[in-house]
Amino acid sequence: MPTNDASVPTYHNYIGGAWVPAADGRVIANRDPANGELLGYVPDSGQADAERAVQSAKDACDSWRKTPAPKRGEILYRVGRLLEERKEALAQQMTREMGKVLVEARGDVQEAIDMAYYMAGEGRRLFGVVVPSELPNKAALGLHDPLGVIACITPWNFPMAIPAWKTMAALIAGNTLVLKPAPDTPFSSISLVEAFNDAGLPPGVLNLVCGGAEVGMPLVRHADVAGVSFTGSNAVGRLINVEAAQQLKRVTLELGGKNAIIVMDDADLDLAIDGIVWSAFGTTGQRCTACSRLIVHRQVRAEVEQRLLARVAQLRLGHGLEPTTDVGPVINATQRERIHSYMAVAHQEGARLLTGGDFATEGDLAQGNFYRPTLLTDVTPTMRVAQEEIFGPVLSIIEIGSLAEAIAVNNHTPYGLSSAIFTQDINRAQTAIRDMTTGIVYINAGTIGAEIQLPFGGTRGTGNGHREAGLGALEFFTEWKAVYIDYSGHLQRAQIDS
Ligand code: NAD
Repeated sequence: MPTNDASVPTYHNYIGGAWVPAADGRVIANRDPANGELLGYVPDSGQADAERAVQSAKDACDSWRKTPAPKRGEILYRVGRLLEERKEALAQQMTREMGKVLVEARGDVQEAIDMAYYMAGEGRRLFGVVVPSELPNKAALGLHDPLGVIACITPWNFPMAIPAWKTMAALIAGNTLVLKPAPDTPFSSISLVEAFNDAGLPPGVLNLVCGGAEVGMPLVRHADVAGVSFTGSNAVGRLINVEAAQQLKRVTLELGGKNAIIVMDDADLDLAIDGIVWSAFGTTGQRCTACSRLIVHRQVRAEVEQRLLARVAQLRLGHGLEPTTDVGPVINATQRERIHSYMAVAHQEGARLLTGGDFATEGDLAQGNFYRPTLLTDVTPTMRVAQEEIFGPVLSIIEIGSLAEAIAVNNHTPYGLSSAIFTQDINRAQTAIRDMTTGIVYINAGTIGAEIQLPFGGTRGTGNGHREAGLGALEFFTEWKAVYIDYSGHLQRAQIDS
């Protein structure tokens, strides 16, 4: 548990069921991105902490693997109930550490609750297969086995949902874990682990180490880590994949996006504008599924731009705990600079700034990392602002003249996470479902808002083909074991005896 010294709390790693500081005592100061307030200190862990956490997970492996899955599920149910009871406090904590507005922080916690209940139910399913054998008096079945110790490495933009997605699925499957949250948002993971602890999870089954690459990479490299579940940037995902490949480790990568909304000339524009504003500026554009490209039919482009300008002008920036706030801060100063660097890129390449394009510094906003909601127009499909993930409140508007052109533009990026189309024509909608090459497709809704019971992930540079959430998650966190039971009492040879 955190030890409060003076007015600023210091938090610890969770290893073997105990809260412990980093081996060398180093800490990271964590601040509210909306106003710079110091929220607490967390361990800046390293190699020794990674080794200790992996050893703890390894020691717990055998008994957790043999714990009946419905019993594992009961613990997850209890975690779900605790998160429900604590939801409001957890959401407020998240808004302070990450910046997203309170209503969205509640949604982030709700995803963790949903996943806890969904995976708890899997404890009574974890369906295998039973198939007929080609030989008499012989049974053939396939079972799910856990992998062993899994390292879960998570980003800052969904501080509780993403750690919960990984831990719930991995634990119900019988794995033991080391969770490493992003250095900017450790508190939600600490609270999640507290809920597991309070729900009676045995020591060592779930371990937490705080810190950055100095503890992340030793986890990836550790010979006793059987799999790595990573969500984050494309650059770090590649590094991890290359490193893990040396040991033929299983890796799941959930990486970036360059998601688009298509607005056709027959679209319900009221609905489309709502969907665009929510998808582009919700979570300050910092969702992997955020809409960063608007692909709009030339017949409605002028009207859409005009209406978007009016809506963007009404967006209120501020602290996410203020009920009047629509758009919170960007996560940190470095990320804000990175977003801003794209304004010069856009200008050089011939895009035109409609609104925004700068830091927001009036009044209290000067204390935080605020960036103005930004619209860029006259963007062409190959410009950098149409190809690279900016991960901020910036929307690039691209004009098209047909459905075929819209879909081609939609598909032409290095990423393939989420896409959406607004049209009232069923034929166009069906064509888009068939031809859009992203892992998630929305019809008449924005690019954000995935539910936990369907597979989540993307094509191309968004990942390496695995999916999180839904039943797809269990595929990653388990090995298939094929079992043959011969009760004939004599040697039977498959493919040879008739
Ligand atoms: P990041 O890649 O910088 O960091 C992600 C995690 O990796 C953090 O915990 C970080 O400490 C750790 N890390 C960094 N370097 C490492 C190294 N060398 N070895 C091991 N671990 C290392 O990403 P971020 O800035 O935290 O998150 C933003 C990115 O995450 C965006 O690109 C976004 O699109 C992506 N994201 C993807 C999804 C998805 O499901 N596809 C969901 C959310 C976020």
